[in-house]
Amino acid sequence: MAATWICCNSCFSSASPGNELAVSTCRHIICSRCFKKGNVQQGQCGICKAKCHLSLISDKSSPDVKALFTDLGSTATKYFSEIKGVLQFQARQQKRLLTHYQQRSQNLEETVMKMKQEIQELNKKISQQNMYIHKLESSAHQRYS
Ligand SMILES: [Zn+2]
Ligand SMILES: [Zn+2]
Repeated sequence: MAATWICCNSCFSSASPGNELAVSTCRHIICSRCFKKGNVQQGQCGICKAKCHLSLISDKSSPDVKALFTDLGSTATKYFSEIKGVLQFQARQQKRLLTHYQQRSQNLEETVMKMKQEIQELNKKISQQNMYIHKLESSAHQRYS
């Protein structure tokens, strides 16, 4: 939290030992020196005089105060790499599912081909048996006529 732009909105000095910066709920930054010098009432902003309360800018600040001072460059980089990871994960999952479906349809095609072949062979056997029956019938006719 030591970016150069973080300074008092009144005297433009940055934080130093004994002169801490605070941010108000009306989003103004004021140093403790100006706060005391301004003789402002407790609960009033020294800059815009709005009713507000101050929170010290430090490593112990609340997350929403800290968020105001985050380095957006590194935050963006962090989120981009997170998004990239999520996208890669989702793409991998979808690809796996697609491969599964492709494999399944290929297997189905192979099964259908095999069934066709078996039907052809069955038909061949049936016609052979028909021929045999026909032969038996005609020889029986010859014997009893
Ligand atoms: Zn100041
Ligand atoms: Zn203010």
